[in-house]
Amino acid sequence: MDLGLKGARVLVTAASEGLGAATARQFSLEGCFVVINSRDLGKLQQTAQSIAKESGNPVFTQAADLTNSESASKMVRNSAESMGGLDILVTNAGGPPSGSFADFDIDAWQTATQLTLMSAVSLIHASLPHLRKSRRAAILTITSMSAKQPVPNLILSNTIRPAVIGLTKSLATELGSEGIRVNSILPGMTQTARIDDIMQARAEQSGTSPEHELEKAAATIPLRRIGTVAEFANAAVFLCSPAAGYITGVSLPVDGGTIQATM
Ligand code: NAD
Repeated sequence: MDLGLKGARVLVTAASEGLGAATARQFSLEGCFVVINSRDLGKLQQTAQSIAKESGNPVFTQAADLTNSESASKMVRNSAESMGGLDILVTNAGGPPSGSFADFDIDAWQTATQLTLMSAVSLIHASLPHLRKSRRAAILTITSMSAKQPVPNLILSNTIRPAVIGLTKSLATELGSEGIRVNSILPGMTQTARIDDIMQARAEQSGTSPEHELEKAAATIPLRRIGTVAEFANAAVFLCSPAAGYITGVSLPVDGGTIQATM
């Protein structure tokens, strides 16, 4: 199947490693121009070089902290300028910290809201003028299975992710007449540094080891394993591609069957 992505201009945020980096790599392998963002320019450049070497296509870097709305907006403008426009925006950010209600003060809630919800708002706000000029415009928000099914000890994510789904669905309706598609992927447990941190936190809480916690978690997943970043990236790139041209407003779990809700 031809995904129709050759020459598309793509911005993937929070992409020096993990789900973002894997998604940027897959876009690059499909022949896209890609800008990747994170806070640390050195790490970002390493990731960009490794992707560009593999794909043979240029990968640009833009360092910015997404918790700062002004920096995020400026980064979008610079990204569009470096590629001569923007066709696809993938909003991703680091996850909020693990913990339960008693663990967080009001500042922690505000920081998490800034990171998880307001980063997506700022990125989309700054991208829209560029996406409106594209013939194959798409936005993908990377959220979490926690948007549909609360995950133990992740109250910040469980609370704020559903707001990003609300934003995604509302924008799909508002922007549909302009041909801009807006979807979300809800990853389940996928092998990245974020999972290592979560397993470490669970092990500390229950006096076990991260390996034991990972085995326990995998046993609860219908496919009996955690996902790979490549499996996530394949779904992300397809949803953003013209091959998915009649798909908008969906919240697609890529979770090995973890979410138990029927719809
Ligand atoms: P990760 O920790 O492996 O990578 C996060 C990336 O975000 C890194 O490149 C980091 O540099 C960047 N980043 C963090 N804070 C940033 C900021 N303020 N500004 C700019 N860049 C920033 O995480 P991941 O596993 O790839 O997860 C990506 C997102 O998906 C997170 O929000 C995570 O909570 C969510 N998620 C992940 C899983 C999973 O199993 N991996 C499951 C559900 C949801």
